[in-house]
Amino acid sequence: MTDSPSTPDFKGAWERVRERLKGDLGDATFASWVRPLAIATTSPDRVVISAPSRFVRDWVTSHYSTRIGELWRGEGVRTVEFAIREAAAVDPSDRTRDHRREALQDTGSDLSAPLDPRFRFESFVVGKPNELAYAAARRVAESPTVPFNPLFLYGGVGLGKTHLMHAIAWHIREANPTRKVVYLSAEKFMYQFIRALRFKDVMAFKQQFRSVDVLMIDDVQFISGKDSTQEEFFHTFNALVDHNRQIVISGDRSPSDLDGMEERMRSRLGWGLVADIHATDYELRVGILQAKVEQSGARDVPGRVLEFLAHRITSNVRELEGALNRVLAYSNLVGRSISLEMTQEVLKDLLRANDRRISIEDIQKRVAEHYNIRLADMHSPRRARAVARPRQVAMYLAKQLTTRSLPEIGRKFGGRDHTTVMHAVRKIEELRATDSGLAEDIDLLKRMLEG
Ligand code: ADP
Ligand code: MG
Repeated sequence: MTDSPSTPDFKGAWERVRERLKGDLGDATFASWVRPLAIATTSPDRVVISAPSRFVRDWVTSHYSTRIGELWRGEGVRTVEFAIREAAAVDPSDRTRDHRREALQDTGSDLSAPLDPRFRFESFVVGKPNELAYAAARRVAESPTVPFNPLFLYGGVGLGKTHLMHAIAWHIREANPTRKVVYLSAEKFMYQFIRALRFKDVMAFKQQFRSVDVLMIDDVQFISGKDSTQEEFFHTFNALVDHNRQIVISGDRSPSDLDGMEERMRSRLGWGLVADIHATDYELRVGILQAKVEQSGARDVPGRVLEFLAHRITSNVRELEGALNRVLAYSNLVGRSISLEMTQEVLKDLLRANDRRISIEDIQKRVAEHYNIRLADMHSPRRARAVARPRQVAMYLAKQLTTRSLPEIGRKFGGRDHTTVMHAVRKIEELRATDSGLAEDIDLLKRMLEG
């Protein structure tokens, strides 16, 4: 089949458009934003370009669509649209050979996920809870050698792990564009690996990963449990360390607490520097809010409002940022200046949710009171039934009413192992079904805690 004269050669045209863009944007920007793009569909005067995620699509649309449109018009295509690529690997059944070829090319060029342009060292506010992680990240970014391997950053959601990883990647890419920096979520890593398996392309997969200078894997807890991916991750990891390449990993808990991960991997992950990002404190929250207000260009946000937010939104930085953005957007939209009253009104539901959050300490206190034992017995090694059972009840409630993981719960109960917590949860579940007195106790405690 040959193209009629009026039908452009889309492949060739796309190559030329990409070449021009590379010249316009420079290698690093090109690699982050243009390389992940692909042609999705075409018709004689229209082309749809697909991006791997909403984020990339939006960014490309707002920053480069004019230029990309111009270049395509130079190729005789009038309309250019941007779409989000469907997650093709989820449904292997309807793949054609063309898809397959595209997918393989994709793996080759699109190893790293794009970096968020806002996540820089300059925009990261440093305070006591994150100073170690920040210092370690900077060291990794600035050091000409590998200062510690791996750097393992861990902490709860929304506390800045991804921000710091992107900041490292930006810094290295800019300071030294020849260093190959690959940043990936653990999920994406798994997805790439599974795809390589499916296309019988594991060799190429390995080679690609083993040729990187800096490998960053975000949210490593998601690799837990998936045996073959874990195996591959372990080998990739070792190969890179042996060749003195930098590895940066993040997780929601410390390496030793990564249940579902093989012991050898857990211990390997702890060999370098393990830096904990703690929950924010009040000072840090105020500092972050001030920085965000400054970045947003908004004027006259009263100090009282920032202090109020810092007092009330304590969960994590993402929610804090979200709350501030809502207030800014609202004031912008209705054209009213920001006041404490307006803030409370706009954030009513969010504030309520933050108030409702139940802590493990609350649970321990209530349960201890209810059973008339000492609070210290929640942490003590005593095994007498009179204290052990209430302790199990408290563990059970902690699992039910908070989002804490088993290891986290164990830690709050005098450093117990997560298997102890699991055992307690099962035991109480069992007893609830047979012991109506206990079932009533639990219902009562639940109501009090939730009330
Ligand atoms: P995590 O990966 O730990 O879940 P993120 O790195 O995605 O968290 O951070 C969530 C949001 O909070 C991001 O918008 C990030 O920029 C912001 N953030 C977190 N910590 C800080 C900080 N110390 N200074 C400025 N912004 C921060
Ligand atoms: Mg993250």
